[in-house]
Amino acid sequence: MIIIDGSEGEGGGQVLRYSAALSLLTGEPFTISNIRGERAKPGLMRQHVTSLEAACAIGGAECSGLTVGASELTFRPGRVIPGEYHFAVGTAGSTGLVLQTVLVPLMLADAPSRLVIEGGTHAMAAPPFEFLQKTLLPVLQRMGPKLSITLERHGFYPRGGGRIVVDIDPAPLRPIECVTRGAFKVGKVEALVAGIPFDIADRELKAARKVLADWPDEAFAPVQLPAENGPGNALLMVAEFEHVTEIMSGFGKLGVPAERLAKTAAKRMAGYLASQAFAGPYLQDQLLLPFAMAGRGAFTTVKLSAHTRTAVDLIERFSGRGFRFAETADGAHLAEVR
Ligand code: AMP
Repeated sequence: MIIIDGSEGEGGGQVLRYSAALSLLTGEPFTISNIRGERAKPGLMRQHVTSLEAACAIGGAECSGLTVGASELTFRPGRVIPGEYHFAVGTAGSTGLVLQTVLVPLMLADAPSRLVIEGGTHAMAAPPFEFLQKTLLPVLQRMGPKLSITLERHGFYPRGGGRIVVDIDPAPLRPIECVTRGAFKVGKVEALVAGIPFDIADRELKAARKVLADWPDEAFAPVQLPAENGPGNALLMVAEFEHVTEIMSGFGKLGVPAERLAKTAAKRMAGYLASQAFAGPYLQDQLLLPFAMAGRGAFTTVKLSAHTRTAVDLIERFSGRGFRFAETADGAHLAEVR
């Protein structure tokens, strides 16, 4: 039984999701206390309950203490059973983070799976749909499994109601090297608005254009979604390179000016563009688990995040596999499975 203090390291939902995924992959049960101990509202939120329910469903696992607000639970994994599953968060909690919990175990299962996940698709502090589709899954596909994802409906905070469908055709994970990102191909910024004033999109694009001044005017486009998908707003910045497509995003929130949200996301993109790294600040922690399971492999990334350090610790505790980090001559960081 692995004992985890959920307030250690990054201290958020990732500790829980990573632990559940690792438990399914290694067969090691775990107990976690102080769940999301470093967050303003600690304990399980709806989306974490759904993530763990998803892990129990696909992994024949037993989990005690699985209720909203709970601060500790015990998880005992069973055998991973691929198949058709439907998970609904019931709030704008992230569909992408539910997927993050079960994706790698299902990528290594012995038959295909189809997941329908309902909840938020474009919400704060989580990967938006486009990041999953264009950034994360193409890298994972290079490791062997066939993966496809479609967006059937957008889901924004606070309403949720989004829906994604994910098809997973498993294969043993092949180690890959993602060290160079190749030549820059094209950059695009889209401001999505649904059921809110259209000028919010224009203000965001104007603020983003000031930071990404080298990108041509036609790279910046507003996208109006059906009002019934809203209210909602997301800003997506896409940089396509030969070997990777990175996406930085910002999400509208009452009280946060459109300009501020756009400037923050654009600066993050500018930082990534100025580096030579393959993976940006969010892709890095999401590559660790599949790379560790492949047993070898390497990628370059920007400055290491707290999420990455925490995930590395958890991977080591559950699987005994580790990473070696080194700074490269051009100031990026090389992460290598050891
Ligand atoms: P936590 O904060 O512990 O719930 O974990 C959040 C997870 O979502 C981490 O895996 C982050 O890398 C990921 N994440 C957060 N924001 C973004 C974003 N804007 N784009 C892509 N992934 C994100």
